Amino acid sequence: MEIAALYQIFLDCQTVTTDSRHCPTGSLFIALKGESFNGNRFAAQALKDGCSYAVVDEASYVAEGDQRYILVDDCLQTLQLLGNYHRRQLGTPIIGITGTNGKTTTKELIFAVLSRSYRVLCTQGNLNNHIGVPTTLLQLKPEHNLAVIEMGANHVGEIKILADIAEPDYGIITNVGKAHLEGFGSFEGVIKAKGELYDFLRAKESSTVFIHHDNPYLMKMAHDLNLVYYGSEDNLYVNGRITGNSPYLTFEWKIGEEGVYHQVQTQLIGEYNFPNALAAIAIGSFFKVEASEITKALTDYTPQNNRSQLKKTESNTLIIDAYNANPTSMMAALINFRNMDTPHKMLILGDMRELGEDSLTEHRKIIEYINEGGFEQVWLVGDQFAAIGHKYRLFKNAQELIHELQSAGKPEGKMILIKGSNGIKLSSIVDYL
Ligand code: ATP
Ligand code: MG
Repeated sequence: MEIAALYQIFLDCQTVTTDSRHCPTGSLFIALKGESFNGNRFAAQALKDGCSYAVVDEASYVAEGDQRYILVDDCLQTLQLLGNYHRRQLGTPIIGITGTNGKTTTKELIFAVLSRSYRVLCTQGNLNNHIGVPTTLLQLKPEHNLAVIEMGANHVGEIKILADIAEPDYGIITNVGKAHLEGFGSFEGVIKAKGELYDFLRAKESSTVFIHHDNPYLMKMAHDLNLVYYGSEDNLYVNGRITGNSPYLTFEWKIGEEGVYHQVQTQLIGEYNFPNALAAIAIGSFFKVEASEITKALTDYTPQNNRSQLKKTESNTLIIDAYNANPTSMMAALINFRNMDTPHKMLILGDMRELGEDSLTEHRKIIEYINEGGFEQVWLVGDQFAAIGHKYRLFKNAQELIHELQSAGKPEGKMILIKGSNGIKLSSIVDYL
């Protein structure tokens, strides 16, 4: 079926679902395949449960004579084509966001700011891949004035694919750092991969990039582009400075050299959120959201997504950042924690996964930073930390650490930073602290 014809069906259906457990009445089911499932097998059930049509890519699953089945070559490709087609039909201005760290947080902050003046669609949660991006685009409605689309990647070439689908008009790379080195091959690989967003925008007739002026890698990558700057230098379009960090980030910002400072008391942990917030301010100001509204949006924003959460237990105060870790975010978290004006700091750090051959070197760098001091107590978890020499207390896994807390008792009166890759499961120790 031609994509234009399928698009008419999509317009009748209004909603697309790829999850047969969630079939809104009248929706269009698209049968995707994963490592351990074949969506084609659920097409019949989806039609029974309320979907009006089912797009499948295996003929054997089409019930003969049933017009509700639409057979295509490749369902994933169809989803992507449809997302792109819809995006083109509506022509909504799209802001594409990628980067090694801070994509989701920055996306949410941009959404919070822009929503003060516009109807905005943004990526839900972390649905930032080859499925999430087209699925998000298909949620665009004529009433949306703007869309903010998060794009994630583990390999070179993936952002290009996502940019070709979303065709953003505006772009932002939050930063480039060391993550997924296994997939990217090297740090140069990361730069190339994230740079694919700039490449897309460069090739476009008219586009704008919001750029963190303090980041030398980004500045080097961003040639031949229409740039709007944010950062710490006084003359930038949006500039600002951190005013406090214990535990919540406070800062002030202004427009250009002459602007007046606006104070923001955030509910975010981490100095690394400062550029994330400035990015949202730059985009908000660019789209003419009033300064007072921008400040209010950032003040009101409360993270709900298990990133850098502060939790007070009976015995300790925890900064829980156990959702992911890579060398860049780990260093950002450590620097932030060291800078915090609070006594009795303790670290519980888990391995950073997926670093390939750089893994031990990167873990060693973390140890070197910790060795410089500033932390009262340090516990490390995982085989990568175990594989390098150091003087700190070591645990094989989270389970062993929990066992220790149960048998020997827990720390008291500490401010504890808990950070590691999701696979180390440090979130499981929280209840024992
Ligand atoms: P993912 O790749 O999982 O989608 P993400 O890029 O969306 O991640 P966030 O979920 O916003 O990033 O933040 C994840 C963690 O990255 C935070 O908890 C924090 O430790 C770190 N982080 C956030 N912003 C920055 C930044 N600007 N620089 C360095 N580290 C950051
Ligand atoms: Mg994310």
